Amino acid sequence: MKKSNENSKVDSKNKLDKASKVNSEEKLKKTSKPNVIKKGNNILEGNSNAKYIKYLSIAIILIAVITLIAVLNINRNTNLNRDDGVTKIVTSFYPMYIIAENLVDGASNVELENMADVNVGCLHDYTLKTEDIKKVEDADIFISNGLGMESFISKLIEANEDMTVIDSSTGIETTILDGEETNPHIWTSISNYIDQVRTIAEELKRLDPKNESVYEANKRSYIAKLNRLKNEFQTELDELSNERAICLNESFEYMAKDIGLQLTSIQTDHEESTMSAETLRNIIDVANNQNIKIIIIDKSDNRANAETIANETNAEIYELNSGLTGSLDKDAYINAMKENIEILKAVN
Ligand SMILES: [Zn+2]
Repeated sequence: MKKSNENSKVDSKNKLDKASKVNSEEKLKKTSKPNVIKKGNNILEGNSNAKYIKYLSIAIILIAVITLIAVLNINRNTNLNRDDGVTKIVTSFYPMYIIAENLVDGASNVELENMADVNVGCLHDYTLKTEDIKKVEDADIFISNGLGMESFISKLIEANEDMTVIDSSTGIETTILDGEETNPHIWTSISNYIDQVRTIAEELKRLDPKNESVYEANKRSYIAKLNRLKNEFQTELDELSNERAICLNESFEYMAKDIGLQLTSIQTDHEESTMSAETLRNIIDVANNQNIKIIIIDKSDNRANAETIANETNAEIYELNSGLTGSLDKDAYINAMKENIEILKAVN
């Protein structure tokens, strides 16, 4: 693409050179006009020659200008469509970035960027920033969690209609309903996470076929690691199966389901601090009646409500890692889950 652009640039430059040559030749002729007049009969012939050259030079200049405009347009389109051999992938937030990082490792001409800041955490009620739109304007692929997590997605598509959106939740059947809404925090179940990795990898293979074998190999090795993690998780936390727990952060509903925990779940949209005194009283009653020993919160959550419950019951607080923020290490998800295994092993 670049090469042919350069060629056409050179072509139009030549045409311009020719045009200016013709112009200067014409100027020479014009200065010799008085001589022609003296020759009498030749006047008409001289005039039509000059006219012919004049039209020809106008035509050449026109062609040159049109070519130049075309070349400039091609250059502009190239910048917009990024038809430059580079596949730019943008992920919506941290969990998707960690998956993508594992899959694109070693791929050629791939640029990976995360849209939201790493410390943003969950995209619940997220307001798009100008920088976010800028990041996707020249992207080829956008990787989303799906299930309504990226409620702003239509604005991104509006900003870049050529971008392909991958919905990592495609095909996940074991979703949990919170009231009328599907809980989108699917990645806290390792099984779901593996499905998300597979969906994203298959889409990357299709959309960026030059790196197909890289994506395939990365997918296999990452899923193999995740399967080992899943086995460890199940084996180590087997004793917690059917145990009752209070979950003050809906991110962990999928993880709890994997473990087999019987949850008393409170829908808080990560805003545990807004819990009413009445709700809190009800939870304390439930915890005492059922002799609940576990209160689950995220390690970045406010502990106040959990502490109130813990003070009036036999329950203890377990601060887990929902994998919503953290280091950009490729193994960040695996490490977060191992951290959770260690914390939950301490129950009893
Ligand atoms: Zn959330």
